[in-house]
Amino acid sequence: MYKNGVKSLNEILNRIENIRNGNIILGKVGDIIRNIPEDRYSYIINRLEKEIEIVKIYNPDVRPALDPMVSSELKIYSALDNVEEYGYILNYPKCCIESFKGARFGIDNEHMNELKVIQNSILDIENNCFGDCNNNRIVNINNDNINDKNKNNKNNNKNNINNNYNDYNTKNKTKNKNNSNKIEITNKYYSLIMPSGYIPCSLLCDKGYNNHLIKIISYDEYMKIQDLEKEIFRELPHYHLAYREYYEKIHLW
Ligand SMILES: [Zn+2]
Repeated sequence: MYKNGVKSLNEILNRIENIRNGNIILGKVGDIIRNIPEDRYSYIINRLEKEIEIVKIYNPDVRPALDPMVSSELKIYSALDNVEEYGYILNYPKCCIESFKGARFGIDNEHMNELKVIQNSILDIENNCFGDCNNNRIVNINNDNINDKNKNNKNNNKNNINNNYNDYNTKNKTKNKNNSNKIEITNKYYSLIMPSGYIPCSLLCDKGYNNHLIKIISYDEYMKIQDLEKEIFRELPHYHLAYREYYEKIHLW
């Protein structure tokens, strides 16, 4: 059973093919895709299919970025004029497309402040359910708890993560005679990943999570993601030095 990383790439492949053969009408980007010479078009479709085959092996929940050879042939890197159309192909939420159009091209301080909200929420949840948590709770974190917390505590995120850990450890002294809880939490919620090139309107963007563009992953999943990136690059080498990593990875702690 393939997870959303594979499904997302297949959806993108289908959209490109449907635009190419006229089943989906798209403005300027439609023209770009239909005008790619046949040999170049076959070449990039083969590369995209190869990328999907590799991604199937690792089966992540979030897709990697498209192979840069594909992206450059589709002219995605000069996307600013046609952000909505590229956003449609890549399944970016409208809110994130609007934010990108406002010249938000990278992870910035606002995103990093949102990361603190996520850290606080994880610690709260682990505090309340420690020893009784399962992975399903990550869905709750992503969709409910973090956003509730964000609404209620938007101006209350000044504590850094060390303070959180101090609080956490004080509250749990009876359970927590050493640092094993801390290690367990940091391994379980190790990193936040997104496909490279996707800049969310917020690290708390519901639609980003719903469209499988953002996910909090464990240390083990993170190691697999790194192996996946290496294998894609090994199997599909390219010369776009700025695009060696297929995921944006933000460490949580
Ligand atoms: Zn958004």
